[in-house]
Amino acid sequence: MTTLSHIAVGAVIAKAALSGNNIQADPLTMYAVALLFSNIPDIDVFFFGIRRTIRENLNHRIQSFLHFPLFWLVIMILFELLTPQRIQQQVRPYEIVALFSLGVHFLMDTFGYHRGICWFGPFVKKQFSITRLVTEPKHSVIMVLDYSRSAIFKVELLLISGSLLFLLIKRG
Ligand SMILES: [Zn+2]
Repeated sequence: MTTLSHIAVGAVIAKAALSGNNIQADPLTMYAVALLFSNIPDIDVFFFGIRRTIRENLNHRIQSFLHFPLFWLVIMILFELLTPQRIQQQVRPYEIVALFSLGVHFLMDTFGYHRGICWFGPFVKKQFSITRLVTEPKHSVIMVLDYSRSAIFKVELLLISGSLLFLLIKRG
C-alpha cells in the first residue's frame, strides 16, 4: 500500500496505544515511533533516490533489506539480547508499538496489486500477496493510473478515511 495509508494507520496505532491502556509514554514520542516504524520499510526509496527508483523501476520490496520481515526479527532479537534490562523496561511501550507498526506495514503490503512482499527475504525472493498480482506496466505514469483504478486503491481510500474518522472521534 502507499505511504499515505501507512501514515494514517501509524497515527491510529499511536492513538490506540495511548488511549487504550494506562501506559507511561510520552504522546509525541509515541506518535513519532509509530509513524517512523509504519513507514521505515519503505524509507530506502529515499536512499535510492525517488527519481532513480522511478527511472529504473526499482522494486525495493525485493532489493532492500529494510523490507524483509526477517531483518527486523533479527534486530528485535539482538535488541532483546544486547540491551540492558533497565533500558528495555523504559522503552518497552515504544518497542511494542514499533513492532506492531512494522507488522501492520508488512500485513498491509501483503494486499498487493503490482507487488507483493518477500516474507522470507533475502533467502526467498518470491513476492507473496493475498490478492492476485497484476503484471506491472513498465512506464511509471501508466502504473499509477492502473493502480488508481484497482480495488486495492479503493480499499486504501476507505482505510485512510476510516483512520481519519478514528483520529477525530477517539478520545485520549
Ligand atoms: Zn512497504
